[in-house]
Amino acid sequence: MKSLTILGATGSVGQNTIDLVSREPGRWRIEALTGGRNIDRLARDARRLGARLAVTAEPGLYPALKAALAGSRTEAAAGPEALAEAAARPSDLAVSAIVGAAGLVPGLAVLERGGTLALANKETLVCAGPLVTATARAAGARILPVDSEHSAIFQALAGEDPAAVERVVITASGGAFRDWPLERLATATVEQASTHPNWAMGQRITIDSASMFNKALEVIEAQQFFALDPDRIEVVIHPQSLVHALVGFHDGALMAHVGPPDMRHAIGYALNWPARHPLPVARLDLARIGSLTFCAPDPARYPALALAREVMAQGGLMGAVFNAAKEEALTAFIAGRIGFTAMSVVVARVMDRMSPETGPAGAAMTLDTVLGADRLARIRAGEIITSLD
Ligand code: NAD
Ligand code: MG
Repeated sequence: MKSLTILGATGSVGQNTIDLVSREPGRWRIEALTGGRNIDRLARDARRLGARLAVTAEPGLYPALKAALAGSRTEAAAGPEALAEAAARPSDLAVSAIVGAAGLVPGLAVLERGGTLALANKETLVCAGPLVTATARAAGARILPVDSEHSAIFQALAGEDPAAVERVVITASGGAFRDWPLERLATATVEQASTHPNWAMGQRITIDSASMFNKALEVIEAQQFFALDPDRIEVVIHPQSLVHALVGFHDGALMAHVGPPDMRHAIGYALNWPARHPLPVARLDLARIGSLTFCAPDPARYPALALAREVMAQGGLMGAVFNAAKEEALTAFIAGRIGFTAMSVVVARVMDRMSPETGPAGAAMTLDTVLGADRLARIRAGEIITSLD
């Protein structure tokens, strides 16, 4: 039996992972599950799956978790250090489904021990791509993509010569406001931004899909994961969300990955890699779907995409700055402090202010410098948000 750790087990990707694991009893032994504030769900799944360890990221929730696990064989722990320790415990595979920069330290802990990391937490590569890939290389660790577009690219690349790749095309649904008049965007509410046309996901990534900050993060994630020249990464709007990504080769062929918008495909591919196992996802009826459409993203509607280009051009710690500023702007939007369109304004201003401090792209990146840039960017974002609200 193989052992599995699920970081962020209580969230959307975490629960989809548990759904797949539960369908194959006896295949996986659960080493650890981690979560945030949802103690009931964490304890329920830890009991049900017989996990050895359950960790809440919130130190204050330790007594509640301990009580909820009373009489079970699951050990309880709490706090960010306990979470990193859970990631460091040996397991055959660790899924990182934490949201935000909080996924970086536990993800690195998996790689440092030479483990295999199934990575949904795109922020890990956005904040510290060069550090993460160097850590994996040094320890002989492996990263498997779980973000659907990156899983699609990974699958299209299987067995191919990376030198034959000419370009990568990542699709985007266009999010909740794709068809809104531009002038209405400033008035978009949190509730309106929290509905995705095709995917059911956590609230933060859903709002990031409406603003395309999610796609901006994914472009940087792809650049880091596949070591691509930024000019070779394209974004195209595809409202049906059925083609997840395409890889163009230098003989002109374009290999597309097509499937239903169901994260269990990408998660399952990582769980079963390098094999393919049957998965409980819908089979597409192409004749019924009829047409797949594509169009170019409008830069005025999605300023986040140009910011991602700027991040890649500057390199260094700008990814960490970009992500931290985005997280703070998103939190401020959810709290009703700033409007929808102000999020990209905040991020652009933080990047402008911090450009001189982020260091040259080639400079050595350490966890300390990344966390320092993250902290400073959050302070700058806080100042800018206060000046706006
Ligand atoms: P979610 O909000 O549903 O779940 C997040 C998980 O992280 C929860 O278990 C939560 O308890 C935990 N968490 C939150 N803050 C934490 C902290 N400070 N420390 C430790 N744990 C914390 O998020 P999600 O939609 O499942 O997304 C998870 C990650 O996967 C994100 O990086 C997202 O961009 C990426 N992703 C998600 C989807 C999707 O379908 N939801 C698709 C592709 C990529
Ligand atoms: Mg994605």
